[in-house]
Amino acid sequence: MEFEQRHYALMFIIRVAIDVPVDTLFDYLVPEIGLQDIGVRVRVPFGKKAVTGVVMEIIPYSSGSRIPSIKLKYAIEIFRDIAPLPEPLLDLFRFCNAYYHHPIGQVVMNGLPGRLREGKPLVKNSPAGLRYRLTDAGRSVDVSSIPARSIVKRRLLARLGEGMPLCREEIKQSSVRALHTLKEFLALGWVEEEAVSPPAAPAAFPVSTSYDANGAKRAAIIDEATVPTLTREQQCAFDAIGAQTGRFKPWLLHGITGSGKTEVYLRLISLLLRQGRQTLVLVPEINLTPQLEAIFRSRFPAARLISLHSGLNASARAAGWVQAQQGNAEIILGTRLAVFTPMPGLGLIIVDEEQDTSFKQQEGLRYSARDVAIFRAKRAGIPIILGSATPSLESYYNSITGRYSRLRLASRAVSNAVPPVVRCIDARTAKITEGLSEPLVAALEKRLASGEQSLVFINRRGYAPVLWCGACGWIAPCHRCSSRLVVHLREEKLCCHHCGHEERFPGACPECGNQDLAPYGHGTQRVETALEQRFPKARIVRIDRDSIRRKDAWQHMLKNIQEQRVDILVGTQILAKGHDFPNLSLVAILNSDASLFSTDFRASERAFAQLMQVAGRAGRASIPGEVLVQTGFPAHPLYEALKKHDYDSLAQTLLAERKTAGFPPFVHQALLRVEAQRMEIALDYLARAAAILNPPRQVNVFDPVPAQMARLRGMERAYLLIQSGSRRKLQEFLAAWRVKLAELPGRKVRWSLDVDPVEF
Ligand code: ADP
Ligand code: ZN
Ligand code: ZN
Repeated sequence: MEFEQRHYALMFIIRVAIDVPVDTLFDYLVPEIGLQDIGVRVRVPFGKKAVTGVVMEIIPYSSGSRIPSIKLKYAIEIFRDIAPLPEPLLDLFRFCNAYYHHPIGQVVMNGLPGRLREGKPLVKNSPAGLRYRLTDAGRSVDVSSIPARSIVKRRLLARLGEGMPLCREEIKQSSVRALHTLKEFLALGWVEEEAVSPPAAPAAFPVSTSYDANGAKRAAIIDEATVPTLTREQQCAFDAIGAQTGRFKPWLLHGITGSGKTEVYLRLISLLLRQGRQTLVLVPEINLTPQLEAIFRSRFPAARLISLHSGLNASARAAGWVQAQQGNAEIILGTRLAVFTPMPGLGLIIVDEEQDTSFKQQEGLRYSARDVAIFRAKRAGIPIILGSATPSLESYYNSITGRYSRLRLASRAVSNAVPPVVRCIDARTAKITEGLSEPLVAALEKRLASGEQSLVFINRRGYAPVLWCGACGWIAPCHRCSSRLVVHLREEKLCCHHCGHEERFPGACPECGNQDLAPYGHGTQRVETALEQRFPKARIVRIDRDSIRRKDAWQHMLKNIQEQRVDILVGTQILAKGHDFPNLSLVAILNSDASLFSTDFRASERAFAQLMQVAGRAGRASIPGEVLVQTGFPAHPLYEALKKHDYDSLAQTLLAERKTAGFPPFVHQALLRVEAQRMEIALDYLARAAAILNPPRQVNVFDPVPAQMARLRGMERAYLLIQSGSRRKLQEFLAAWRVKLAELPGRKVRWSLDVDPVEF
């Protein structure tokens, strides 16, 4: 809709969220708009450009704008192609704006699928507002009866045959002559016109009506035959949560690996389906979605499931998003960004592997999808389940204080399946060839003989972590990052795993000229090679970010593993999470010692979670599992806890340490992060930032320090830690401080706030 200039008295002012790094809404004039238009997308002039934004507020002109009226500009166009963003979603955006102190426009615009940020309507309307589809006559046309040289005809018929009505624009895309052909088809009665229905309000909830419309009985939603009987513990968990679906309650589902958390989710989703409500399921890894999606689809064949993650193309993501908004999908499965999916009938949120740090976004709006999900559940008045075998200490602590209710699944779901036996191999005394110790090789041999699968876990991709000069000690560095280049032998490249920089192998050491440079240490490729040499007949597959890069590669490998066409899996943490390989009985863990002595206070927690996860891949069905950890520190408390599968006592020890040291969850933290060309500039900016506002007594502002990764992609990075025992005090300080920061000169720096940081 284009606007004409009209008399001001009839005008409204819209306050628009625009993707700019200023924390404010921008005012524009529009005629003819109503409160129901809050949440529509709009095109507005901004500087010399036109940009897309979202209408967050609408006020009558008479109420006045903060902008003098002569400067107020008219909005260019309002998009009513889809229903406005619903209030609960806008509310979620406002929460993120306030809690993470991130500019409102950036929160809103980056929370939307890319297609909705573009300056055009989502549904391409033809100028006449018409769309075209095949008639019954058109559908019965045999394509082969059309001469092969009439490519345009054949193509258009096939395109329309896909089922979706097309507008003129779309038809034109198939060929420049397609519009002529369309006319012909219309004359032949093969195609009919339909007026585009106004993209009005979303379909009314409850969604369950659509089952009836499909003729499917509610009972058919679930295929009872494949549903296992719940274990006693699963039943308890299901009963507890199921009894309280109508109100906000955070549940910590603390179940050991293989305890059947997924089955509890399935039962609850089924319950929600019967209630005609939607479930949002968040998973940490895009690679976990296909597997879970398959499980959901086979259990709920009649339910509409949408999976949303960054691997989808823009159209698919937008389409899924709109489906969810219209209430046309009952199950939304996705990675962290899916937390911003509008769902009018939302009745339950599940966050699986809630401890996983990939729920935290590390750039732009640095939100934690888990925490945002909790806020969302609270606002919606619905339960939220945080599932994990190794809950984050934050969530565990919340379950101790009673903020969350903990449900325990302490045994494996498959009868006879028991947690694997964990043993350490002392790497200081064992004979080791190419990174593999003798006992480990023997254990692999045993599995090969008995036809069971093994997993060799090494959380480092590439061939070797460094290229080293034995003569002078030089190590190939990344010139853009404070990191070393990783040797990728097959591709004959050195790669930086932080910035993506790649270079060829140097012919000689740049320091001393020595030509005999050697890869040092082990990565997945090297372990794979060593295993291939040791077991030439074994079917070995390597699974890491490099090997699954090609589209569908991962799906293909997964199928091979499941169908027993693989003997040994070598891989990184991609393999550690969530997967259920019933025939896998041995897990060998290499090189996990590095994390034992990290300076990060969360390192032990993370290392333990990861070890428990990967160990949990062994012996999930009736074959007993064994875990071998090859380590130089077999007596380390972390490994002791792993041997006993004792999360609780380790968690308590770690919590006690955190309390003494004054770390989260006993304090709340935020970082002011800065990037600059040179470290002095970054540190100087931080020092000035610290001086602009005195914190109250309960809030501590620490000295500026270089980040752990002090240099990344050619930028120097530093931060300032702000900490308080009171979340409210911290928030109040950040809010006041942010305003002043926006005014602080710092042209040569980029700064951002990180609330509840997980990386330093
Ligand atoms: P978790 O996610 O807790 O690690 P899963 O949900 O993957 O565990 O379940 C582990 C295995 O146990 C799966 O193969 C699953 O099919 C099976 N399982 C789950 N619940 C039951 C049950 N009640 N009876 C029999 N098998 C079950
Ligand atoms: Zn050298
Ligand atoms: Zn780099």
